[in-house]
Amino acid sequence: MLFTQNKPTEEVLESLGEEKNIFLLACNGCAEVCETGGEKALLAMKAELEKAGKDLTGQLNVDFLCNKVLVATRLAQERDKIEEADSILVLTCGVGVQVVSKVVNKVVHPAANTVSLGGLQGLWPADERCQACGDCALDYTGGICPITFCAKSLLNGPCGGAQDGKCEVDSEKDCGWQLIYERLEKIGRLENLKKFHKARDHSKMLPSKDLRETSFYDIEK
Ligand code: SF4
Ligand code: SF4
Repeated sequence: MLFTQNKPTEEVLESLGEEKNIFLLACNGCAEVCETGGEKALLAMKAELEKAGKDLTGQLNVDFLCNKVLVATRLAQERDKIEEADSILVLTCGVGVQVVSKVVNKVVHPAANTVSLGGLQGLWPADERCQACGDCALDYTGGICPITFCAKSLLNGPCGGAQDGKCEVDSEKDCGWQLIYERLEKIGRLENLKKFHKARDHSKMLPSKDLRETSFYDIEK
């Protein structure tokens, strides 16, 4: 199970910026258990968006946003509402947001931070991965994780060592930042590369004391 915590509402609204028409998408899997996804979180977020003057083009709960086939099938049924939207706000873990960005040619925004893999890597049959960095940056990188797709987990662009689109650390793998560039170009967000992403706070990778005291960790208080 992937453990997630809501991003502060101000951070979510800041990431949406001037985007007015939003499609809201929530996961009924791990995220619902963490109360970052599911119907309750979706309705709470809907209220926040409306309070902030946003218009919803549609909303949807999907059982497992980490399942690409399921997500592609369900989102295909919502094509018109998604096309109307400026972006999709996704209430789930980092893997789910990556999956959505892969199946829809649209800007995606994570509404939560993944803070722990809970001892399990999940059941998703694909290559999207999350390292539970606790400060999800998928909003800025077009839905491709810079922590897991870049061998050096760089946050502010490539290292400069890539050769023909392949990583200098492992020439069998695509350069994560090349993929991010191509993705941002595709969704018309190359200007994201001009933003400076603050240095990572590595303490966020340590699950909170409250979480460490749950059955996921089973440690003494
Ligand atoms: S940026 Fe990557 S590692 Fe961090 S929460 Fe998002 S998907 Fe996970
Ligand atoms: S070549 Fe690309 S993926 Fe490899 S370390 Fe450099 S920026 Fe990261």
